[in-house]
Amino acid sequence: MNIYILSSGKYGSRIVNHIAKSFSSNIVGIHEVPEDLPEFIEDVSGYMPSNLPEADLVIAVGLIGDINLLTPLVAEGTGAKSIIVSVHEPKGMPPGLMQEIKDSAMGKVIVFAKPFCILTPMGDPFIDEFAGKLGKPVMEIEFDDFVKSVTVIRDAPCGCTSFIAEELIGSPVEEAEHVADIKFHNYPCQASMSLDRNLGDTILHVAGYQSKEAVRRALGFSMKSAVVDLETCNTEGEECDHLCVDSCPQVKAGVDTILIGEDNKAVIDPASCGCCEQCLDECPYGSIEIVKKRFDLKKK
Ligand code: SF4
Ligand code: SF4
Repeated sequence: MNIYILSSGKYGSRIVNHIAKSFSSNIVGIHEVPEDLPEFIEDVSGYMPSNLPEADLVIAVGLIGDINLLTPLVAEGTGAKSIIVSVHEPKGMPPGLMQEIKDSAMGKVIVFAKPFCILTPMGDPFIDEFAGKLGKPVMEIEFDDFVKSVTVIRDAPCGCTSFIAEELIGSPVEEAEHVADIKFHNYPCQASMSLDRNLGDTILHVAGYQSKEAVRRALGFSMKSAVVDLETCNTEGEECDHLCVDSCPQVKAGVDTILIGEDNKAVIDPASCGCCEQCLDECPYGSIEIVKKRFDLKKK
């Protein structure tokens, strides 16, 4: 697989450096896009890199605003049929721009990863080869009462999973998800702390939820989650339109954190719940609360 990368700014550089650790022999070109471009650009073709090599996958990281329209043009120029666009900043990819990029990438497979560490295999051979190594974090943890060793199966594209893995060694297991949370925020992830209106949360927070989920799944339990009271959920005649589902940033990011059962009641997955409390505020029946206890997880 040949990978061509469009990168901009510090966020882009960090990711490119980390991608190179896993895919150095696959990278056929990296084009640095200037950081100080206006968000609105009439015609991006003037920024087109020259002498494009043949590639299978084009990855865009760190680009803000209209310059992202360069990505489908570069894919066309390299012959790539697969594209990953990483989104780390709300203003970097408004919905209208995303649609414009999709339209100009017609006939290609394009994935918008917001944040980049939400990426999982999705049925495209090149995107899946990449997402086999980098994307949504996956770990294996050996433990007794303490974390003994951690193996990173899939690292976040910025490398934060490997950083967290080292820091987890020796932690009491029941504190490990909390330690992962703290260490995630110590790592210079550089995803935005501005509210992303489409997620209803910051992109940085949603990235943190993925790291925490990796630790919980590896341990087989979670120590804190939102929980729905099935006695009161959807019981008072009027349907609630499942406002909890609509408010959950994890669901909006594409994670199955809240599912509605055949009985029309909500069930929250304690592995992926970020405990952001947004569903608590939205539920008209007050049926959701945050519970601190050990939740044993079903194997995935
Ligand atoms: S607290 Fe509610 S809204 Fe927040 S992540 Fe958990 S289930 Fe989703
Ligand atoms: S938890 Fe609340 S918002 Fe969600 S389905 Fe039940 S009643 Fe509706």
